[in-house]
Amino acid sequence: MIPQFNIDLHTHSEWSDGALSPAQLIARAKLAGVDRLALTDHDTIDGLENAHAAAGQLGMDLICGVEISALWRAQTIHVLGLWIDPDSTQLRANLALQTARRRDRMRQMCERLGKIGLPGARLLQTVECQAGVPTRTHLAAALVADGHVRTPADAFRRYLGEGKSAYRSAQWPPLQDVIDWIRSAGGRASLAHPMRYRVSSGARRRLISDFAIGGGAALEVVSGNNASQHVETCAELAVKFNLAGSVGSDFHDPKLPWNPLGRLAKLPARVKPLWGDLE
Ligand code: AMP
Ligand code: MN
Ligand code: MN
Ligand code: MN
Repeated sequence: MIPQFNIDLHTHSEWSDGALSPAQLIARAKLAGVDRLALTDHDTIDGLENAHAAAGQLGMDLICGVEISALWRAQTIHVLGLWIDPDSTQLRANLALQTARRRDRMRQMCERLGKIGLPGARLLQTVECQAGVPTRTHLAAALVADGHVRTPADAFRRYLGEGKSAYRSAQWPPLQDVIDWIRSAGGRASLAHPMRYRVSSGARRRLISDFAIGGGAALEVVSGNNASQHVETCAELAVKFNLAGSVGSDFHDPKLPWNPLGRLAKLPARVKPLWGDLE
């Protein structure tokens, strides 16, 4: 049997909402037996330089990646850009706009928190003091630190989850634009965690069909601790829409036990691996 690489195409560092620096992430992945790792921070590639240096020292095959927020029919969608050229000026310019959208949205969410009696300005300041692009994870941590909720999950349940009192979507770019940015940076686009969007199964199929027609390359068939029936459903969808498959933990933080590094299920054999032609 041909030995399989232990590959993880979806991870976060402190340059977005991960807990570890790129070097710590790579060291932890190495210990967990991962040979190939993509760093895919939310809407930024600023961590890739440090990741590259650490990967060189630790003998890790680093794949340059990013997880870009997009809109498809008013639904926020996450698209992984993998094997991108981090020097692409077009991609860099567009990601700078994404950061501006995130800062704007964070201000709006904190304003909403202010309107319901929480210290919005102080929470905003706490988030803005941190390095990296601001995400709801940062705001959830600020709400916990300030004693308004017990856990980040509570913060999402009460205030920050989709449809909750302080939730705001951002003016993310259309899905097609994001696929185009990734391809023009030489990358491959994979639709992240397809089962996590709160849409009907018909809408999910239309999303995947639009993604495939628009130049998307893969579905994230194995995503973190996805239940095995999700893997099967995604495998079927990938085959049906002639997409390859990617696998990723969506690792953020060693304290969160549900998506550890190095423990991903295998991509079902009927799905073409997104990395197949690169081995
Ligand atoms: P954003 O991209 O700013 O909307 O933030 C999304 C991030 O929030 C996701 O990538 C997760 O890391 C985190 N997140 C979303 N929902 C939850 C939840 N219920 N509990 C904890 N973290 C969450
Ligand atoms: Mn995240
Ligand atoms: Mn995501
Ligand atoms: Mn992610």
